[in-house]
Amino acid sequence: MPAISRRKTPSVLVGNVRVGSNAPVVVQSMTNTDTADVASTVQQVAALHRAGSELVRVTVNNDEAAKAVPYIVEALAKQDIHVPIIGDFHYNGHLLLEKYPDCARALAKYRINPGNCSIGRKDDDNFRTMIECAVENRKPVRIGVNWGSLDQALLTRMMDENAKLAEPRDARDVTMEAMIASALDSAAAAERYGLRHDQIILSAKVSGVHDLIDVYRMLAARCDYALHLGLTEAGMGMKGIVASTAGLTPLLLAGIGDTIRVSLTPKPNGDRTEEVLTAQQILQSLGIRSFTPQVTACPGCGRTTSTFFQELAQQIQSHVRESMPIWREKYPGVEELKLAVMGCVVNGPGESKHANIGISLPGTFEEPVAPVYVDGRLLLTLRGDHIVREFTKILDEYVQTRYGAARSAELAGTR
Ligand code: SF4
Repeated sequence: MPAISRRKTPSVLVGNVRVGSNAPVVVQSMTNTDTADVASTVQQVAALHRAGSELVRVTVNNDEAAKAVPYIVEALAKQDIHVPIIGDFHYNGHLLLEKYPDCARALAKYRINPGNCSIGRKDDDNFRTMIECAVENRKPVRIGVNWGSLDQALLTRMMDENAKLAEPRDARDVTMEAMIASALDSAAAAERYGLRHDQIILSAKVSGVHDLIDVYRMLAARCDYALHLGLTEAGMGMKGIVASTAGLTPLLLAGIGDTIRVSLTPKPNGDRTEEVLTAQQILQSLGIRSFTPQVTACPGCGRTTSTFFQELAQQIQSHVRESMPIWREKYPGVEELKLAVMGCVVNGPGESKHANIGISLPGTFEEPVAPVYVDGRLLLTLRGDHIVREFTKILDEYVQTRYGAARSAELAGTR
């Protein structure tokens, strides 16, 4: 896969996680529990972290939430979970951060929305208060501009100025400019109030794919701050996944983006970790990071009349997912493993040879045998009723041999 040249940014330390510069693109997520409900929030943060979220944001919207934050961080630490917790502030962040210094200390980063932190005021005292709190506590800040809560005074002024031009620009273009101006002006103000350049991350979130790509390209061209990417309100299920992928892909391939979030709307009582797995899959599909072995399976067609190969693909995928918590610890590098489960001889052997381990099942009217390829060579041919069990055994042995040995060699090299 061609290497992606990342845009140069400062390295921002968020708790124990580096964002930007040459650090891997960081996956983050946000809880949807009531932050004041410590037990539920701890449980969800732990689940998000176990799924692979490297930063987790919680809303800090009222006194109860602010009071809960230190207890959440403490309860997570007791479970040996040290994922940085980010506080999401709107409207009253200046009050909460001042009133609850334990909350300000416990958070690893503050997210500030410049569009709603000084509403109804002529000055930026509220914003300034939050920045000064970040400076005092040595915390980085994300200045997160959002299309849906853009600084209305700034937008109105820019729209008015645009209307006076001989050839006014499209309202969409002016809104994009206003988002960028809001982010950059706020970042400049934050630096004036004492925050270091490498303590600032910017985002400019919109809900349309084209808008997202355009606004981030413009923002990336005009500053070197680390950038948080994400489509705001991506939506539910397939729509949210596809829209997020479509929006993030061109940017990530252009080296833009240092941390990402996929803002999926879960089904009622749905699994919040889906947004983490989606973010990981986007990065892995683009060859940017590896999180878990990839199973390539053909879609099947009229050449496969049974569902056997779909079941095999599903069982292999489940086996990999269930094994990963242990494999990740015992077999470093296993996340790079590539598997192929193919439905017939048309593409089966070819695709299998490109994988570390591949199996080509018999299609309709083909001889009932399943050749298994390991590192591009035919290892053996499976037949009979135990193909799944035997293939899984081959897979487990391959992982132990290849990645167990690699780890031993690595450990020996460090002694
Ligand atoms: S590999 Fe065979 S079964 Fe799978 S889609 Fe191609 S032709 Fe159909």
